Parts: sequence; structure tokens; C-alpha cells
Amino acid sequence: MSLPTHQSLEPRHTVAVVGAGAAGTLVAIHLCEAAHRRGSRLEILLVDPTGAPGTGTAYATRDPRHRLNVPAGGMSCYPDDGTHFVRWLVRHANTRSTAADFVPRGLFGSYLADTLVDASARARPSVAVRHVAAAVTDIRRQGGRMALVLADGTELGADSCVLATGPLRSRQGWAPPELRRSPQFVPDPWAPDALTRLLAADGDILLVGSGLTAVDVALTLDRPGRTIHAVSRGGELPRPHAVAPLAPLPPDGPLLGLPLADLRRAVHRHVGRTIRAHGDWRPAVDGLRPLTAQLWSGLSDADRAEFLARDHSRWNTLRHRMSPATAESLQRLRDAGRFVPATGRVEAVRPLPDGAEGADRRPGLVVALNGGRTLRVRWVVDCTGPATDPARSADPLHTGLLDSGLARTGPMRIGYATDPDGRLLGAGDTTPAPLWTLGAHRRGELWESTAVPEIRVQAARLAGALLDGVTPRTRPAARRPTDQLGLPLSTHPEAATAYCTALEDLMAVRAGSEEALRQAVELDPGFALAHAALAALGHEGGAHVDVPRALADARTAVRERGDERERSMVEVVAQRILGAGGDAALLRHLTDHPRDVLALGMAVPTIAFSGVADLQEDAYQLVERTAPDHDGHWFHTSLLAFIRQEQNDFAAADRLARRALAAEPAAGHAAHALTHVYYEQGDHREGLRWLDAWIDRHGQGTAHHAHFSWHAGLHELALDDAAAVRRRWHSQLSPSRVHGIRALVDSASLLWRARLADRWPGATPIEAVLDSIGQETLEQPGSAFVALHSAVALAAAGDLVGLHRLHRHAAWHSDPVQSEVIAPLCDAMSAAVEERWGEAADTLTALRPLARRVGGSAAQREVVEETLLRALTASGRYADAELLLRERLDRRPSALDLRRAQQLRAGVPTA
Ligand SMILES: Cc1cc2nc3c(=O)[nH]c(=O)nc-3n(C[C@H](O)[C@H](O)[C@H](O)COP(=O)(O)OP(=O)(O)OC[C@H]3O[C@@H](n4cnc5c(N)ncnc54)[C@H](O)[C@@H]3O)c2cc1C
Repeated sequence: MSLPTHQSLEPRHTVAVVGAGAAGTLVAIHLCEAAHRRGSRLEILLVDPTGAPGTGTAYATRDPRHRLNVPAGGMSCYPDDGTHFVRWLVRHANTRSTAADFVPRGLFGSYLADTLVDASARARPSVAVRHVAAAVTDIRRQGGRMALVLADGTELGADSCVLATGPLRSRQGWAPPELRRSPQFVPDPWAPDALTRLLAADGDILLVGSGLTAVDVALTLDRPGRTIHAVSRGGELPRPHAVAPLAPLPPDGPLLGLPLADLRRAVHRHVGRTIRAHGDWRPAVDGLRPLTAQLWSGLSDADRAEFLARDHSRWNTLRHRMSPATAESLQRLRDAGRFVPATGRVEAVRPLPDGAEGADRRPGLVVALNGGRTLRVRWVVDCTGPATDPARSADPLHTGLLDSGLARTGPMRIGYATDPDGRLLGAGDTTPAPLWTLGAHRRGELWESTAVPEIRVQAARLAGALLDGVTPRTRPAARRPTDQLGLPLSTHPEAATAYCTALEDLMAVRAGSEEALRQAVELDPGFALAHAALAALGHEGGAHVDVPRALADARTAVRERGDERERSMVEVVAQRILGAGGDAALLRHLTDHPRDVLALGMAVPTIAFSGVADLQEDAYQLVERTAPDHDGHWFHTSLLAFIRQEQNDFAAADRLARRALAAEPAAGHAAHALTHVYYEQGDHREGLRWLDAWIDRHGQGTAHHAHFSWHAGLHELALDDAAAVRRRWHSQLSPSRVHGIRALVDSASLLWRARLADRWPGATPIEAVLDSIGQETLEQPGSAFVALHSAVALAAAGDLVGLHRLHRHAAWHSDPVQSEVIAPLCDAMSAAVEERWGEAADTLTALRPLARRVGGSAAQREVVEETLLRALTASGRYADAELLLRERLDRRPSALDLRRAQQLRAGVPTA
């Protein structure tokens, strides 16, 4: 078991990362994260002449027309946290950003730099990041270490080195010597200030190449009166992304191992089928992406050579697409005749003497293309893209690596030969040096290796493999600490103690679990279960947690260090958060690990979590089944008490709750169960007395004290005591006392119920409650249980726009409970706000039996029934309203319902 050595005094391992473009910055970020998780002591030297991490060739641009050619949802630094970049955009650039946006590329450079700052701050003091503004001209082996020679001749020592210098510079082999000598030739459009002269001057331009670089350069250099020509072998421009993209479609037959001719046919069939079925070829091409590396490595050298000669340029136009906005801008230039792409090859160039080309007296170039065409332009820009063979590079760094035998070229002489982690393979049988690479240098091995979705995965894997040599992932198993129920924890004793404190608090529903979990991950950043518990608390318990981040940390950490139970638990939390069948996974987990109290707490719908909603009966059986494993522990007895009252066995619930409270007087689940027993039996006066006394003694320390106050308010409402409800709300449930999810679930819901019962004269203070919740929680709630309460709160505020947005969110949600229960509930609530009571009554009547699927307790879901009662009465359907009331009065008497029933019988429309 790899246990963190965060306080160790081992000397720091130094990693030199050569190149701080996207690839180098991503490596540095993942090294920081992995070293932080493992407690490795690391110094990272980020060496780049620009001194600006994250920019490199692609992201240095400040031109807003230069957009990413991958949607924001695909550009996160973290493979496990796909929305990280989108969340950054929302915070730093545009609150309305979505995963589908193609944002300006410069923003991505800032994001990379920011993320590195965050990652290195988190990893301090065990990791130090140092920026070195210099170019590396040579890398040598020096004993077991590496020596880097800088452009000024100084040397830098490092234990390991990562070559992240990006694509090789174009060699302009296609350009005739006259052109290469000409000052009107731009050999590298991405070099700093390369286009400045072309922006300042007039004259037509020829771009050689018609890929994404040519597109950007054309947009930058366009101006009225100027024609920009673009020639390339195929003459094809990159295709645009779809405005509303469809999900990738994997091929339905096996492709691996096919020779190129068969592969080509199979791909054409796959594309044809996709077009016939979906009207678009893109999902077929995107569906090949995960297979590309394997397909490439399965081809013979002859097939790869043929692919490069025949298919490569077409593949590029289909695979590396431009954003819809870029395509539109480009089309406008084409329509105006200012951008003219064509098939062609430059054969000769003749510089014109000064003034020879005409009245404007400007020097120019006559470019002869194949087929006898000529173009007269003022500038020629090389947009052919990077070179691929390091042996033919003009950069001595690359030729030096090959000459010294530290590296050898990759398949088809593209990039370098590497092992699967990106470690460079040297010449002959030499032991590989501690030298790694990624991105364009691995294209020969992987083919698709130049875009961020691939580079970030390589960076994470490289960081892990590199650190294996510093702090091994697995050490001979030391005895692991355990939780209260004897389950082993993959962490060190200090972090385990903090985790157990959190569990104890969660079991008792005491405040403090969030704090204790934070302490656990601070003590051991690689402690997967503690990250997962934080993510679950943030998602379902309303804790202030960056949920996607905590989940990503849990997933990454459990891969590095975690046993089967921990992996299963992280997956359960992931599925619950991502709305992908978490209930079934949770039940399976508990079948295998019945003593996992965190999982058990999540499965049973009480206070902190919404429970296994879709499979409630299963959850109940589960509590019964796990009883022998818990041997009468007060936590398990509390849960048993809770489900007994949900099953209307109030005598058993009462007995069990009191037994648990005798063992642990602060046991929140037991107190909660007993509260429900009083409420469901209509014993409101005694229930209120007992609850107020318990709140006085133990309620202040509970994590969900607002919920107990809500219960007390509900008793007061049932007693038809409007003044008491009002007092309770202002003293215990107003925004000065409660905010966030609890304000939504408890404060807002009590206000709505008081208003429906006509027990809150005048306007309710709902706006102040909504202000304390936050728009995202209201309009994009993660769970159906929260969404139910969002609909109630928005209805209480009469916010039809908010209800409309919540409806849209729920209708498209992957969780069927959101689409099948919450979306129609929003319709009903909108109808109620607009006093279309008949419609509201119809929808709510249909929804009432489905409300169980939302989770939570019967008393919480009763808000649907209360709204229905109001809708029936207000629409004049007194008989139905009376029936509903009678049903409830038979079950549970209350002063409020008795008054309503009497009024209905007397024919008085009532609340
Ligand atoms: C115009 C353009 C647009 C693109 N758009 C996207 C996009 O939207 N999405 C996407 O996923 N991909 C895009 N790409 C692909 C792009 O290649 C990668 O996303 C990524 O930028 C590659 O980063 P890199 O660090 O490997 O290379 P580079 O960006 O080239 O960075 C290499 C770095 O190494 C430094 N360096 C080089 N030699 C040395 C040396 N000897 N010593 C020290 N430092 C050195 C350089 O100064 C530079 O900072 C785009 C590429 C281009 C050219």
C-alpha cells in the first residue's frame, strides 16, 4: 500500500519539462496532482523561451476570431473531470458558457496557466514549480541523471526530463529557393509578430496549405480589396463541426487487424450507414477516434505509407474540423471573392523587381502553379503544417537526441519511438533514459496525438509512470487502518482518524462531517474514499464542495490506490452524481459490503441523502438484510426505525428509535424517525413538545437543524397555529439562520405549505430565501429530490421563467425521475402560479402516485398532495378535495384538515 510521505525529508526529485505549451503545461499540472496525492517531493523546472506557460503555438493568439476547433466540453485539463474548462469559463469569461461552445483560443491559454497555478498551489510545499525562460539546445545523459544545455551555454541538471517541444517546425521543402530567400515569404505564421507586416500593408496573399492554420491566417489577414488564395494538394478545407452535434457512433463490426484496403471499405460502410440513419457523417468519424491508435498500430508499414499518400489529407479535413462560427466567417469571405481556395502545387516563384508589377509600385511575387496557372501576390505564407521526421529537423536538440542514441525515430519516421507511457526508446538495446515525451512526438506511435483530448490523457499517464520511479504506487502491504465497523481504509492512520470522525458525525447527523472529510483529504490527498464522501455530501447533502472536482479526485486516487470496496464505492458515488443508474449500483455495493455505513446512509432516504428512490422497497429490504451485520448498533437501529415509520409500522418505529436514542441520545436519524412517528400518527401536540425539547438539548449540533425546525413548523401548521408557524420560521428558518439546499428544502417548502393552507397572511418572504440558494441549484438541480423542492420554491415566488428553465433542465436530464416526474411537476406548478387550477389539478392527480420516485420522506413529498388539494378546491372540484382530505384524516387527524373538511362540507371554498 502506497502511503503518503508528505512529511518525509527525502531530497526532491527534479523533473525538467522542456516546452511549456499545452503539452508541457498539462504534464506539469498532472505531475503536481499526482505528486500531491502520493506525497512525493518534486521540483518541476518548466523550461521555455517564451516564459508564458500554456500558450505555445496554438493558444498565444489574442485574436477573438481564432477559435478552438474542439468544443469547450472536450478541452478540460483533467480526463476525469470533463467540465473543468467549462466551469472555469463560467467563472472567468462568460457565465453563459456551455460545453458546446467553441471559445476564442486565447482563453484556453489563460485556463491552462491558471490551472497550473492552482495545481502547484495545492501541491505546495511538497512540490515546487520553477519557470526557466530559455531554449534547450541539447539533452545529455549524465550518470543516472539528465543534463540540459541551454541556449546561453549554461547547464541544468534533472533526475528526469520530459520533451514537450510540440510539433517540429515546417522545413518548407516545397518552397523554391527564390521564395525561401524572399523577404515576402512568411515561413511560420505562428512565430511572434510574423503577420504584423502583412496586416500593415496591402496586396494579395497566397497561403500554401488549406488546413486549420490557413483558415485562421485568412481570417486574420482579410480586408476589403485583398484576395487571399489558398492552394493545397487536395484543395479541400476543413469541414465544419455540426451546430447540434450527435453522439459518436462506434463502428458495428470489428476493424482491428484489417489490412488498409479492407479497413477503407469498412470505414466507408460505417460512414454510409451513419449518414442513412442519422443524416450526418460526423458521428461515424468521431466514433473511430477511440480506435485510431490501435488501427494505426495494426497497419503494416506499406499500408501506413499508402494511408499517408492517399487518405491522410482527406482524413484531416474530416477529423480536424473548424467551429461553425469560423466556417460561417470563412464562407462570407468566399462569397465576397476575398478568399479563394484551389487545388494546386507551387512549382516556381519569380520575384518582381520593385515597381514592375504595376501602378501601385509595390514589389511582388509571381507564383507558378502546376497546370500552367500563375498568381501574382505580394506575400506567400507557409501554412503546410509541421514537419514530422526529427532526423531532418533543423533544430539541433532533435538531431542531437538521435545522434547520442537517447532517442530513435518512431514508426514511418514520424516523431520518436516510445513505450506506452511515453518514455523515449533509445538506439539499440540501451536502457531507456529517464526521458519522456508526449503530443506530436508520439504521432508515429499513436497517429492521433496532437489535440488536447489525447494530450491530457498522455500527460496524466506520463506523470503517473514517471512518479512510479520516485514514490512507487504500491508498497508491500502494511496493516491498513480500519473504520468503526472494521473495514480497511487505504490511507494512513491520521487521515483514517479524520475520516472516522466524519463517519461518526454522519451516522449521528451531527454537523462537522464536511470539515472532518476536508481534513482527511488535506492529510492524504490520495485518499479516494474521503474525496468520494465529500462529492456525495456536496451533491446530495448541500455541502459547499466542488462536486465534479471531488469526484475526479476520488476516481483518479482510487485507480492509484484503492481496494475493491473503495473502487466500488467511488463508482457508486460517480453514478449517483452523473445520474447513471446509481441506485442499482448502490444496492449491489451494499450486498457485497453490508457494513459500509456511508453507503447504507446514502441508500436510506432520511435527512442527509435522498436515498435509493426508484428502488425504495429494495432499500427497505436492504436495511432488514444488513441487520445481522450491524449487531444492533445504534446507527443501524436508527435506520430501521426510520423505514418502519415509512412502512406505517409506527409502534415498531417508536420502539426502535427510543432504543437507539438510549444508546446515543444525539442519534439524529433516530430522532428524525421518532419525529415522523409523532407526525404520521397526528400526535402533533406531544410531537412538538418532544421535538422542541430534543432540539434544545441536541439540535444545535445537528447538521440538519433546519430540518428539525421544519418538522416543528409542520406540527404547528397541523395544529392550525398560524402565529406559531410564523414565529418558528422567523426564528429558525429565515435566511439569517439557513441557506443553500436546506433553505430550499425546509424554509421555502414551509412557506409554500403555509400559504396553501392560508396560514401566512400577506406576502411571504420567499425572495430572500431564493437569494440565499443560488440560481444554479434552483434551475439546474443535480438530483430529482432537490428539483422537487426547486419547483416548489419557484412556484412560491411566482417565477414562471425559472419554472420554465427548470422544466427544460429536467426534461433533458439523463435521470428518468427528472424527466418523468419533475418536468410535469413544473407544468403543474406553472399552472398553479397562473391560477389555471383545473390543469394543475389534473397533472398533480396523475403525478401523486409517482412522487415516491423522487425520494425523501412521505412528509416531504406531501407538498405535492397539499398543492393538489389547493388546486382541487380552487377549481371547484370540492368532492375530490373532500375525498382527499377524508383519506388523510382517516390516516392522521389534524386541526388544519378538520377545519378544511368542515369548510368544504359547508360549501365554503377553503384553503
Ligand atoms: C492554430 C492551431 C490551432 C489549434 N487548435 C486546437 C484546438 O482548438 N484544440 C485542440 O485540442 N488542439 C488544437 N491544436 C493542436 C495543438 O497542436 C495542441 O492543442 C497543442 O497546442 C500542442 O501543444 P504542444 O505543447 O505540444 O506544442 P506547442 O504549442 O508547439 O508548444 C511547444 C512549446 O515548446 C517550446 N519549445 C520548443 N522548442 C523548445 C526548446 N528547444 N526549448 C525550450 N522550449 C521549447 C515552444 O516555445 C512552445 O512554447 C491547434 C494547433 C494549431 C497550430
